[in-house]
Amino acid sequence: MKLIDSHGRRINYLRLSVTDRCNLRCSYCMPAEGIPSLQHGDMLSYEELHRVASEAVSLGIEKIRITGGEPLVRKGLIGFIERLASIPGLKELVLTTNGILLREMALPLRRAGVQRLNISLDSLNPTTFAAITRGGNLGKVLDGIAAAGEAGFPPVKINMVVMRGVNDHELLDFASLTLDNPYTVRFIEYMPTLLDTDWNSRSLEGREILERIGAHYPLLPLVSAEMAGPSRNFKIGGAAGAIGIITPISGHFCESCNRIRVTASGLVKGCLFANEAVDLKPYLRNTENGDLREIMRRIVMEKPGRHHLAEEDSGHGTVAMSRIGG
Ligand code: SAM
Ligand code: SF4
Repeated sequence: MKLIDSHGRRINYLRLSVTDRCNLRCSYCMPAEGIPSLQHGDMLSYEELHRVASEAVSLGIEKIRITGGEPLVRKGLIGFIERLASIPGLKELVLTTNGILLREMALPLRRAGVQRLNISLDSLNPTTFAAITRGGNLGKVLDGIAAAGEAGFPPVKINMVVMRGVNDHELLDFASLTLDNPYTVRFIEYMPTLLDTDWNSRSLEGREILERIGAHYPLLPLVSAEMAGPSRNFKIGGAAGAIGIITPISGHFCESCNRIRVTASGLVKGCLFANEAVDLKPYLRNTENGDLREIMRRIVMEKPGRHHLAEEDSGHGTVAMSRIGG
């Protein structure tokens, strides 16, 4: 079955957040004190998350990314992933993590059926990393990346959010990681956040990121695979890995957007930046009449054609990333 929205886009990718909690406090994502925890009953149970995932796959979703908050902090995750992996028709099951708990979790995740890992890493300098994440230990993430390889995962994708004056001096360090390692390092434009009123001065356009890397390392364009997402990929000549650039702001990829999102509290969203969301809990818990599949189909149909973030006075808000899952 194919899920086509009203703009003719095929929707086959669900980002499923399993928690809004996190063991880090990245300055652009969470306030220093963390966020007020969802009450137990406000969070979807694994049973409910599984039902959402199964219905989504039966509607035409082929790829699920587990995200958070930090997905690895939710207890019982491995059993949940085993059940997800056995949903008939699901072609790709992948996960995004900050890597802090990956040394312990890589092998169980692999055995449970996760096919690939994306790891968020914004600095290779322990002090800068600790400053961005408010106390995170870089060594644990690097060890987690090594553990992913040992557990038999394909080379990881490393996602770096680039912020002027914070970590942009590390662009070449990140690019050079790909020389000897088969990783894909992806540079992501910093998106507006409620937590950073100075977002504009810290954001860097993808074009500038590419120019700065390209001035040092000539970049060869690569062709992207289907379901590869919005990254434009390149390779430094002779490198083991690849470089990607993701430009949600300057070169928004809305016309080819294939995703919907479900938050840990059961809100389904057609667009990261849209204010509209539908709460699936009443339909999951039968406190409201209505068919879960129909509600999800409606969200796909109402998915906006594009976001308007780059336009002044767009009226569109910032996002609480830890709640939505990036
Ligand atoms: N905790 C996991 C992690 O950090 O990978 C998964 C959830 S996190 C919200 C998902 C992604 O959103 C991370 O790669 C993070 O860097 C990204 N993100 C959060 N806030 C962002 C922002 N303002 N701009 C760009 N990316 C952001
Ligand atoms: Fe946690 Fe990920 Fe947000 Fe950082 S970006 S605070 S690791 S949820």
